[in-house]
Amino acid sequence: MRYSQYFIPTVKETPADAEVISHQLMLRAGMIRKLAAGIYNYLPLGLRSIRKVEQIVREEMNRAGAIELLMPTVQPAELWQESGRWEQYGKELLRLNDRKDAEFCLGPTHEEVVTDLVRREVKSYRQMPLNLYQIQGKFRDEIRPRFGLMRGREFIMKDAYSFDVDSTAADLSYDKMYQAYRSIFRRCGLNFRAVEADTGSIGGTASHEFMVLAESGEDAIVSCSACEYAANVEKAEARVVEAAEHAEPRPLEKVATPGKKTIDDVCAFLDAPAASSVKMLILLADGKPVAAILRGDHELNEIKLKNYLGCDTLEMAPDEIITKATGAPVGFLGPIGATIRIVADLAVKGLKNFVAGANEVDYHYKNVNLGRDCTIGEFVDIRNVTHGDPCPRCAGGTLEMWRGIEVGHVFKLGVKYSKALKATFLDAEGKEQIIFMGCYGIGIGRTVAACIEQNHDENGIIFPLPIAPFHCIISALNIKEEPVRAASEAIYEELQQAGVEVLLDDRDERPGFKFKDADLIGIPLRIVVGSKNLADGNVELKDRKTGVVELLQIAEAVAKVR
Ligand code: ATP
Ligand code: MG
Ligand code: MG
Ligand code: MG
Repeated sequence: MRYSQYFIPTVKETPADAEVISHQLMLRAGMIRKLAAGIYNYLPLGLRSIRKVEQIVREEMNRAGAIELLMPTVQPAELWQESGRWEQYGKELLRLNDRKDAEFCLGPTHEEVVTDLVRREVKSYRQMPLNLYQIQGKFRDEIRPRFGLMRGREFIMKDAYSFDVDSTAADLSYDKMYQAYRSIFRRCGLNFRAVEADTGSIGGTASHEFMVLAESGEDAIVSCSACEYAANVEKAEARVVEAAEHAEPRPLEKVATPGKKTIDDVCAFLDAPAASSVKMLILLADGKPVAAILRGDHELNEIKLKNYLGCDTLEMAPDEIITKATGAPVGFLGPIGATIRIVADLAVKGLKNFVAGANEVDYHYKNVNLGRDCTIGEFVDIRNVTHGDPCPRCAGGTLEMWRGIEVGHVFKLGVKYSKALKATFLDAEGKEQIIFMGCYGIGIGRTVAACIEQNHDENGIIFPLPIAPFHCIISALNIKEEPVRAASEAIYEELQQAGVEVLLDDRDERPGFKFKDADLIGIPLRIVVGSKNLADGNVELKDRKTGVVELLQIAEAVAKVR
């Protein structure tokens, strides 16, 4: 590619509305341009990096046995009504009507569509395992789109869905995806951790997030200094809250929930949204804890409880502590109707139709509405896990805290969607069974942004080779001088023929100007062709990352690059 004929609108000044470095640099390097809030044009340079990540993702997905297809962006409301998410999903789901007034949405994810496809086509156990994936534009009407491609409203996602005959087979599919994700992010040159994550509003039984370590990350994660343990500390699931805002209040119901102890179990059992977006909710009456709702990582909750109660050891499991303190099993809210002071964050305000305990073993309330059935109290900050806390899994290890950017997420879905949409098959005995599912997402644009968060300096981006838009840039210092032009062209031709992706900076600009752009757009290798060195048959080869400059014969430089 010749720079003079290409389209790289670089910018000197740091854009005022870009908070994080990757957003600033992607704008400055002419990789993206904003069209509307959270909606971006991918300019040629940005697109090249995106395509690189997509290619790595494709190779690893195919290697793991997943099969590519492409599903539509526009999805009919009926499918979402069938799964129950038309009501639950809230405002992140952009809804629209066609000319006949039929309802549709722009797909934020594709569980419904893919399950519908599979229920029509897969009839026998012989057709599984099956893993279908796509790389496609998603739309989520995020409350706060920000940080450029990191949290857009329209963004590119790789989403895969696995279909299996039972949970054992589904676990195997999950493990394959987990390993494929490790390979993908390793190949992208990222420093990341796979952490245990809350299954949140998607439901299901297990989940891991792939977190790129970066100060600008929105998530707090911990990992053990000695063992493999790593987990997401806490995350607000805005989606649950939005769903709650969207719903109409329903009448309070007392329901039997035999043997269900944790709030997640109860909610899954009742097929209802959890009581709160926060993972640990301690409920106070007159300043004393009366109940707790524990969600997410059990082991981290234990540490948080220890910190909250100010003790080093728990004589009993967290569930039992709360039971002792409150006389009610975990997840119980206390007597509905009484004035309960709820420790919650502001996100819980306006929560509708949630599940809470009934202060009676094996019973819960469904469709509890704040304000109507109980009131909001003050916010009490439950002290979190801190750096140096002992690892809950191994002896001797301590927890290290990080900030992370979620670039990938794998879920065991169980039968959540297949049951709702009646996706069944006939087993070897001819008996009808429900399909077990998993879902697996990667944010393609976010991965590029996360990579830039980890790889930059004061002069610009430092792309790792695998996702760099070009491998090499040739800076022809004075293109008007015939020897410089001829040598640059010859190197350009030779590298291209060797399969090197090379950008020839053939613009009639000052050297300093060209170097600034080359540094900014972060091409890993730079060959500088100037008349002085050329007189001795030499060019400079500079490594963008190390800054090391070598003076080499043209043939040597070319051999090194290819
Ligand atoms: P987040 O917690 O950041 O809102 P999520 O948990 O809602 O993300 P998933 O539903 O797990 O996202 O989607 C799979 C992947 O899609 C995420 O791991 C992330 O890489 C990417 N992704 C999700 N939302 C966005 C967004 N608004 N912009 C860019 N990428 C996104
Ligand atoms: Mg989200
Ligand atoms: Mg998330
Ligand atoms: Mg996620």
